Amino acid sequence: MAAGNGIVVVFDFDKTIIDVDSDNWVVDGLGATHEFDRLLTTMPWNTAIDTMMGELHARGRTLHDVADVLRAAPLDPRVVAAIRACHALGCDLRILSDANRFFIDAVLDHHGLRGYFSEVTTNTSRVDAVGRLRIAPYHDFHAAPHGCCLGTCPPNMCKGQALDRIRATSAAAAGSKTLRFIYLGDGRGDYCPSLRLGREDLVMPRKGFPVWDLICEDPALLQAELHPWSDGAEMEETLLRLVARVLIEEESKLPRPLPLDCNLELLPAAVQDGLPMPAPLRISH
Ligand SMILES: [Mg+2]
Ligand SMILES: [Zn+2]
Repeated sequence: MAAGNGIVVVFDFDKTIIDVDSDNWVVDGLGATHEFDRLLTTMPWNTAIDTMMGELHARGRTLHDVADVLRAAPLDPRVVAAIRACHALGCDLRILSDANRFFIDAVLDHHGLRGYFSEVTTNTSRVDAVGRLRIAPYHDFHAAPHGCCLGTCPPNMCKGQALDRIRATSAAAAGSKTLRFIYLGDGRGDYCPSLRLGREDLVMPRKGFPVWDLICEDPALLQAELHPWSDGAEMEETLLRLVARVLIEEESKLPRPLPLDCNLELLPAAVQDGLPMPAPLRISH
């Protein structure tokens, strides 16, 4: 979908949209914390959560149980308000997450938010023939590693590469329109895409979280402007202020009518012929 106002807002999901990690929330909610911690000592996170879904299924836990737990995950009303307001202003909203499709959809559907996002990029999920949830990596790292050398991306997902793909498809859909990206995240995995944002983009790392610590090691590595936030209220206030600012900046780049006190008759005829037509009044909605 082409961005209506030229702004693409990319949200991480865990500890950015919801205030917890959805994998931990499900595992804790279904009483399997110790088993999950044990699995994590022998396999990557993404493989462990898939294996955990198998163990929970074997114990008689249904997908209904999993979805029930997800529906109770804390979601700050200010975050919901921020999402709705950005959408109303014409921003193209995306989710880029290392959770999985089933968990994210369960939360978005419960809060009536699915329709606000044009795309969710995450690890795939499917329900197999016996009703067990299978979670597969975004990059099939057994077939081919994603090749990102940064060291902060897990084997199953380089969000930087995923962001590059989002940028390419968004740009193709937008045609000649300039796109401005705003990226929000909290985790180590959000560092790679933050580094790939351009000078015209804005990054909103969650203060005091891993991505913030990584950025603070050498903020000069970032091209995008930095706007940290701590909680839902600060996210809403910061995000809406940035969207308003970008809209004004982009508006100011449009051809302007001459000031009213400019006397056209004083200009040579050749210059008058080349004057731009007055820009139509644009109203944000
Ligand atoms: Mg996160
Ligand atoms: Zn990466």
